[in-house]
Amino acid sequence: MNCPVCESKLEITEYRNKIFDELNYYCKTCESYHIVKEVDTSKYYAEEYHRKFSYNNFFSKLINKLSLVSNRTAGRFDFLNKYGNISQNSNFLEIGGTFGEFFNIARKKIHPKLYTIVEPDKKFNRKHKNLKFENKLFEDIDIHELGRVDVIQMFHVFEHIFDINNFLERLKALQPSKFYFEVPNCANEKVKIESLINNPHYHHFSKKSLEILFSKHQFEQIKLEIIEPQSYNPYKKIGFFKRYMLRFSGADEIADESGIYLRGIYSIK
Ligand SMILES: [Zn+2]
Repeated sequence: MNCPVCESKLEITEYRNKIFDELNYYCKTCESYHIVKEVDTSKYYAEEYHRKFSYNNFFSKLINKLSLVSNRTAGRFDFLNKYGNISQNSNFLEIGGTFGEFFNIARKKIHPKLYTIVEPDKKFNRKHKNLKFENKLFEDIDIHELGRVDVIQMFHVFEHIFDINNFLERLKALQPSKFYFEVPNCANEKVKIESLINNPHYHHFSKKSLEILFSKHQFEQIKLEIIEPQSYNPYKKIGFFKRYMLRFSGADEIADESGIYLRGIYSIK
């Protein structure tokens, strides 16, 4: 069994993923973990995923209705704004965008010309000027129908995709100028264990593995970094006051090799 990133031989581990009921494999060359068998997850995503991870609960809906933006999303936008060379003429495509929290901030800051959300679940759809929903999996979309795309982004989606090599080639076929993503950082021990065991993730990346993968597909790295948000952490409770002070000071995220998120911006040749 070979690593889908670097093609080295994988070794089996004792980490069993509870959702797939499969063991994870490890690649010591690129320091990544993988589930090597594709599992039919359609029923799981339809019935359990959004309930378990609460993207469609009352609170999320309220945030959406008020077009509020969390600190986390604000930090993501700042990163894209800094490295992505975006403007109001940009057409955005977000894969797995649920109701479009990122659209809420993009709309306020730069008024994108078109923002398309690829989200199979229709219940997240909403009507807004310049916002379009494609209720399909990205893998099932006829890419010629999407029109011009400048920036493709996805947050915590890549680790859910089984055939990552084919996926990146499909992205390239759309000829965007930038690709922006965020995944869990598996160099963080707590994140690694959660990702390996309790989430429907096929792949668990290290910084090294992403560098190898994107270079294999001729994506040019603009910035790849590991961050630790100061105002949000799924494993620590952070008080309301601290969250808002950090947001106003703009010191919300710090670069930290053992932080919880790994994110990058690439340009596509
Ligand atoms: Zn590898």
